[in-house]
Amino acid sequence: MTNKKSQKQIEKPPVVTFMGHVDHGKTSIIDAIRKTQVQLGEPGGITQHVRAHQIVHNKKRITIIDTPGHEAFTEMRSRGGQVADIGILVVAADDSVQPQTKEAIEHIQKSKAAMIVAINKIDLPSADVGKVRQDLANSGVMLEGWGGDVPVIEVSAKTGKNIEQLLEMILLVAEMQELKADPDGGIEGITLESTLDSKVGAVSTALIKKGTLLVGDYVAGEGVVGRVRAMVDGAGNNVEFAGPSDAVSILGIKEVLSVGSLIYSGKTEKEALKLSIVEEEKKEIEEQVTGGELSLSDLFLGAQEKTAKKELPIVLKTDVSGTLEAIVEELNKLSDEEVTVNIISSGTGEITEKDVMAAKGSRGIVIGFHVMASDSVMKVAAREKVLIRTYKIIYNLIDEIDDVLTSLLAPVEEEIEIAELEVKQKFILSDGTIVAGCVVRDGACKKGHKCYIMRGDERMIDSRISSLRILKEEAQEAKKGQECGVILDPQFEVEEGDSLICYRIEK
Ligand code: GDP
Repeated sequence: MTNKKSQKQIEKPPVVTFMGHVDHGKTSIIDAIRKTQVQLGEPGGITQHVRAHQIVHNKKRITIIDTPGHEAFTEMRSRGGQVADIGILVVAADDSVQPQTKEAIEHIQKSKAAMIVAINKIDLPSADVGKVRQDLANSGVMLEGWGGDVPVIEVSAKTGKNIEQLLEMILLVAEMQELKADPDGGIEGITLESTLDSKVGAVSTALIKKGTLLVGDYVAGEGVVGRVRAMVDGAGNNVEFAGPSDAVSILGIKEVLSVGSLIYSGKTEKEALKLSIVEEEKKEIEEQVTGGELSLSDLFLGAQEKTAKKELPIVLKTDVSGTLEAIVEELNKLSDEEVTVNIISSGTGEITEKDVMAAKGSRGIVIGFHVMASDSVMKVAAREKVLIRTYKIIYNLIDEIDDVLTSLLAPVEEEIEIAELEVKQKFILSDGTIVAGCVVRDGACKKGHKCYIMRGDERMIDSRISSLRILKEEAQEAKKGQECGVILDPQFEVEEGDSLICYRIEK
């Protein structure tokens, strides 16, 4: 694309996508933006529609994903890729917030992208900007000047009014996001589109997230590999290389890749394939970790301290409002006279620092359903010792919270190990009583201690020390290194090599 000399730059152009209700003017705004551009050369050989193009405004590049609609968000995100850095929510001033506007809001909020609102068609006499602002507020979009921080620009794609201001706002928001990428080394990219061209074979359009792709490199994704024969940018020009935020059509990958698949490059076929396999595995593991596969005990830690109140304060975040209502309803069903779920706040969208702080304030936990928390939010949660749990299945969520509530009722009991003895010998007294001849390996054991036998990895019996003798004398205590005879109640057929662990219970 343009401006490719400075390969070492680490600031990357913002990738922007337009979303909103049908006919609100997404395509028209993209066209209006195009009109602000000086035509950059004649298109090259392959007339492949790249689905994304770059423009230059105030000497800064902006990558615009051409496909208006939600797929850039839905398809891509479902595969772990984040395409857009900025989501522009287009709302027609004469039609205000509509169902797809709400969907778009949810998609943008769910992603890590920043939001800018473009109120379009302000040239129309029926335009009612005030209503749009009010409806947006009602839909959870807090605009600048209305108590929030979402920038809003009133535009007309038809007359071109404020289109430049929109571009300026995109650059400003990008600057605040401090978008950066490493241009060195092999690439990670996201497939925006992949088609089979009768003349040139498979053509994959990819957005480069990091690294630089050169003609001649090998590219791999989903187990498919190929050598880059040629690349075409959004203006139809053949290019030799593509860096962060560039979108290019790649010729040479042997098969059609699925939309949203991640691709990687290397100098050899093997290198590219290996990287793609390793990275895909890593992504899967990350999914599992953030996807709520942690054990209940993690959750337990967060809940323990609140035993006195017997309530579990929850900050709940979900992807869409439909599931939010369903989960709130299910959670409320879990409450009874002894223990309650207290939903201190709920809403749609990604888990934010505010949610973490709200949970901290009431000593509660944050629960996410089909939403994530960014690394920076996770860091805040770790610092503030607030537990964040995310779920993908409602049943798992309800089940775990139910377990936690049950655990709140019963005080938490923990075994504290006091002594470890090794059984050296077994004696049987004339009345049949079994005596374990032991040596104390660690700690000190006393008559009356609770204990259990470990045979290998297996816990055999829970018992108590009913008699303790040192050199045939009844003793109160045997310390580390001492030999002793132990009688258990209840009795147990000990064996040489068993461990006898003494413990006490702490609540
Ligand atoms: P999309 O479905 O969101 O991509 O909407 P389009 O860009 O296709 O626009 C839908 C209709 O609204 C078209 O007939 C456009 O000409 C018209 N339109 C788009 N922007 C404006 C605008 O700023 N003012 C007016 N008056 N009409 C517009």
